[in-house]
Amino acid sequence: MTIIFLFIIGAITGSFMNVCIYRLPRDESIVKPPSHCPSCGGRIPWFDNIPILSFLILRGKCRFCKKRIPARYIIVEALSGFICVLLFLHFGLTAKFFILWYLSSALLVASFIDLQFQEIPDIITLPGIVVGLVAAGLYPPLMGRLNNFPSFLDSLLGVLAGGGSIYLAGFIGEFIFKKESMGGGDVKLLAMIGSFIGWKLALFTFFLAPFFGSFVGIVLKIKEGREIIPYGPHLSLAAFVAILYGEEILKKLFLV
Ligand SMILES: [Zn+2]
Repeated sequence: MTIIFLFIIGAITGSFMNVCIYRLPRDESIVKPPSHCPSCGGRIPWFDNIPILSFLILRGKCRFCKKRIPARYIIVEALSGFICVLLFLHFGLTAKFFILWYLSSALLVASFIDLQFQEIPDIITLPGIVVGLVAAGLYPPLMGRLNNFPSFLDSLLGVLAGGGSIYLAGFIGEFIFKKESMGGGDVKLLAMIGSFIGWKLALFTFFLAPFFGSFVGIVLKIKEGREIIPYGPHLSLAAFVAILYGEEILKKLFLV
């Protein structure tokens, strides 16, 4: 029961994330106007705005103009539901659950914006870094610590290690290939991730992300024949693995 309930809560927040994914890159307000169809402008009634179900009932088409609604809507809602359930199964209903849910949601929005626009808006990552630092300072268990200051320090080093590793990789890439390989958006994204999970898991994320590269790359290539591959989704996938299993994997690898 709890799991079904959390999946629904996750899907509902997922439909808000869809609004963010559509409006943030267009510099539109995320609170008003109310939801409308991007093709015909028709206002979407509440009963057509039920996560996942409405999409299936309407068969992915707008009620008024019958234009296709991108599959992204139902994908994001379902992913958000699963993320919520997975985090709950791992952390229970703790403060850590809510803090990491916030991070995961920010990563979901950033990834889908990056997939479409090859950019990650600062409005997601910069406030995210502050939230991570404050959360670590106020709530040491987030970093597996007992005291506030060491926890805050882990988070601060997480920002530096996360942002620094991507920056350095981009710098070296540019030097070798003579063209820009990493965007500033990726630097800030991993800096945000680091502020929530600390420097060890930030570096873990950095080294894990390339393994997801081929996966996202192949999907985009088949779907759109695209050459430039956005890196945000790789970092986000790797970060989510780090959130759930990073501690265990690091323990096994380094026997600490
Ligand atoms: Zn329409």
